[in-house]
Amino acid sequence: MYAIGIDIGGMSIKAGLVKDGKMVDCNRKTTAPTSDLAIEGIVEQINELLVKNSLSIKDIRGIGLGAPGLVSSESGVVEYCPNINWNKVPVVDILRKKFDTEIKLSNDANVAALGEARFGAGAKFNSSIMLTLGTGVGSGIIIDGKLFEGGESKGSELGHMVIKVGGEKCGCGRRGCLESYASATALIRITKNAMSEDEKSAMWQFVGGDIDKVDGRTAFECAKSGDGTANKVVDEYVSYLAEGIMNLANIFRPETFILGGGVSAQGKYLTDKLKAYCEKYEYGYKYAPKSDIVTATLGNDAGIIGAAALVL
Ligand SMILES: [Zn+2]
Repeated sequence: MYAIGIDIGGMSIKAGLVKDGKMVDCNRKTTAPTSDLAIEGIVEQINELLVKNSLSIKDIRGIGLGAPGLVSSESGVVEYCPNINWNKVPVVDILRKKFDTEIKLSNDANVAALGEARFGAGAKFNSSIMLTLGTGVGSGIIIDGKLFEGGESKGSELGHMVIKVGGEKCGCGRRGCLESYASATALIRITKNAMSEDEKSAMWQFVGGDIDKVDGRTAFECAKSGDGTANKVVDEYVSYLAEGIMNLANIFRPETFILGGGVSAQGKYLTDKLKAYCEKYEYGYKYAPKSDIVTATLGNDAGIIGAAALVL
């Protein structure tokens, strides 16, 4: 059975036709400046997928949408999303008037977690927690194969768990959140700080002497080739992320953590370090089942496949 997944992003809106957990066709439109225009565009994208694949809406199990920001999946409303300029938009009701099929909405981090849990890195596990390490730290919790969305289905925000009281200021208004230490943004800050204190670090050469070229890969790549300062950066970053993971392991004991986002491209190099750290400190790890730590496998398709999974 087919489903359609819509990945609403700040730059573009991607629509994909999904069958058996795999994307078979997709299209993309630049995100329009208003919600009315953007939804008109989504309708066009859905119709285009149907026509191109000689399908009618009756062949589609449903349409799932993933949107950034504060989303209420129960009522199908995008409550507040500054980066796409949507405010109390009843997107599900609007689309239901156009398409006679099941339509569901959730936030983008939840959708990615569901996609990975059903069809990606979490497929063999019943419970998983996904942390997306990008500009911020997104999160999604899967318990017994189902998305746990919290009160009024407003989603979970594990990235705003404080791991250092009085630490770095976070966008949410508190200090010391996991997001301020384990996002790619935080990794870049830690890398730049370390470079300014060590002008001999190989990281300078890696970025051609231009500190503005530092990205989430800089410290990791230079650590792998033996640079001491880069190794210190990686160890510091891993310790923050591991503290967050252990807090969550102690609360939820999921079968696995799934790491997504840019930093997760470090794969086993990152997960081995995290596991070594967590094994030392996770509560009762010698006696209780350990949570695995793996990296996401759906890549850029996670948003579309996960949105489709909302109706599969
Ligand atoms: Zn925060």
